[in-house]
Amino acid sequence: MLLGAMLVPQTASAAPAVRASCFAATGLVSAVDHPRLPARGDWICDGLGPRGTPPVSWVFFTPDDFASKGLKPSHFVTDIARFDRISLIVMDASGPLRSRSYSMDDVSHFVNGPKFALPLPDMQGSTGLVVAVERPWAPVIASRASLQVQEKPTDALGWSEDAMLVIALLLGMMLTPLLYHGVFHRILREGYVLWQIASATSVVALITIHSGLVHHIVSLGMETTVQLSMMALLVPMVFASGFLLSYLEAEAIPDGLCKLLKTLVIASALTLTFIALPFAFLRPLTAAAFLLIPIPLAAAAMASAGMAIRSGRRIAWAQLLSWAALSMAYTFNALRGFGFATSDGLVDIGFFGAITLHVAVGVFAVLYRVDIMRKERERVNARLDALTNLIDLDPLTGIFNRRAFEQRFVELRSDGFHALAVVDLDHFKRINDKFGHSTGDRVLQEVASVLAGDKDAIGFRMGGEEFVVMMRGSQIQQRAEQLRRAITIRIANEVEGIDGPVTASMGLVESPPGGASSMRQLYSHADRLLYEAKYSGRNRLISERIQIFEPPSRERRMKDRRDADRRAEG
Ligand code: GH3
Ligand code: MG
Ligand code: MG
Repeated sequence: MLLGAMLVPQTASAAPAVRASCFAATGLVSAVDHPRLPARGDWICDGLGPRGTPPVSWVFFTPDDFASKGLKPSHFVTDIARFDRISLIVMDASGPLRSRSYSMDDVSHFVNGPKFALPLPDMQGSTGLVVAVERPWAPVIASRASLQVQEKPTDALGWSEDAMLVIALLLGMMLTPLLYHGVFHRILREGYVLWQIASATSVVALITIHSGLVHHIVSLGMETTVQLSMMALLVPMVFASGFLLSYLEAEAIPDGLCKLLKTLVIASALTLTFIALPFAFLRPLTAAAFLLIPIPLAAAAMASAGMAIRSGRRIAWAQLLSWAALSMAYTFNALRGFGFATSDGLVDIGFFGAITLHVAVGVFAVLYRVDIMRKERERVNARLDALTNLIDLDPLTGIFNRRAFEQRFVELRSDGFHALAVVDLDHFKRINDKFGHSTGDRVLQEVASVLAGDKDAIGFRMGGEEFVVMMRGSQIQQRAEQLRRAITIRIANEVEGIDGPVTASMGLVESPPGGASSMRQLYSHADRLLYEAKYSGRNRLISERIQIFEPPSRERRMKDRRDADRRAEG
């Protein structure tokens, strides 16, 4: 919008232009050799443009409009559109004085903007200029006609250099999201990203062609330019509809509306084909369809966005807004095309503004999906974490299981857990036999709550009534013994109906942090000590400390040997 605001004054001040005063429409008559000009009563001078595309569209410029301002117009300038022939007829009091005729083939010089210019005949002594446009494709060719002064041959008659610069900026702004969308498509793998890429590309094409920038890049004939500029206006609507359908997914839009949108898209595609075909008889139909189709298309798109809003998609509000802007732009374009409105640069800027807004909303919508996907991934990750934790826990006691022990052993070792104790209840089978399996379960739960641990001791249930405790810090042996005794006290206090004490045996290995002991080595070592505890009467702790012997260095060994030799000699 800011860019648009910058552009408006530039466009208006590009070159002083003289507007036509009157318009007329007639059947096909010769306008060249012996011009049969429209009768006085056929001219309409109500300040509005001509309506429709008659066989010949006539435009009248009165000399008062330029002579009084001291202007000496050099060119007839108007919007590009197809025609068979344009005749410029200089009048004096007695009738036609001089004339010049141009066909499409004669028009090659394009000025900045979607316009073309034709040099005027000598205007000396004229009382007015009549322009006859034979078989105009679109009313704009007459309604947007003006006379302009080109002071130097190199002067551009269209938009100013500044305006073109802003257009180039606008294009740059469109190209950046295109690059991003290539990346988004790799992430999202969704069809609508491709539609958005197509849509943004078609808008780049639209701006390039309609600003006249295209003529700075390639040289195109009038015929091709006219076809391209019509197509450039319709193609973005097709892609934008494809994007909307694919983005909102069919289920958010009622079937009927979905079909209507698709039908209108097909109709647009057909119109595009007809525009490309060189058949004159298709002209009136194609010219009308080209102007009209975008209006129901935008209406259907707005209705679809409305339905999506109703089914709870908040992003559809932005789409509704941008389609409303497009709808206004294309409605005004149609009104102008049919001659119900006249306008200047402002509409072009409004048009570019609306369509750029639409692409921006599309970019925003894609980003919104990327964000949703990111949040979804975070949620899945969180659930995955929860699940991973769950399979690491023993269902009966709620403490870590054997799997967790195996998974975490290396990490715990590197976190300084250098001691490993294996704990086994004594004569547990008897408890089950005497008090029942469920009491046995209660006992196991109490053991677990004693061993569950803290930041320096972590318990695992290895299976049955066997547990492992990994420990770090100082006074390992005392702390292990305390745990072992706590089991008996806890069971006596918490599990009702057991008469005698429930004791536990423990095998403890301390392996200093530097020593590289594998899980299997450490565990079987502790298990051997546990077996010893059982064998020597149960209800006890047997522990060992693994010593690491550093082999003496080579120099040290040589010195020792020399010392020994000396002693032997001595
Ligand atoms: P020892 O002092 O030699 O260790 O004798 P024990 O009876 O404790 O050892 P044994 O291995 O002979 O018996 C272990 C019993 O633990 C056998 C089994 O029924 C019981 N057990 C294993 N898992 C569970 C469990 O989840 N719940 C209950 N209630 N009992 C279990
Ligand atoms: Mg046991
Ligand atoms: Mg056992």
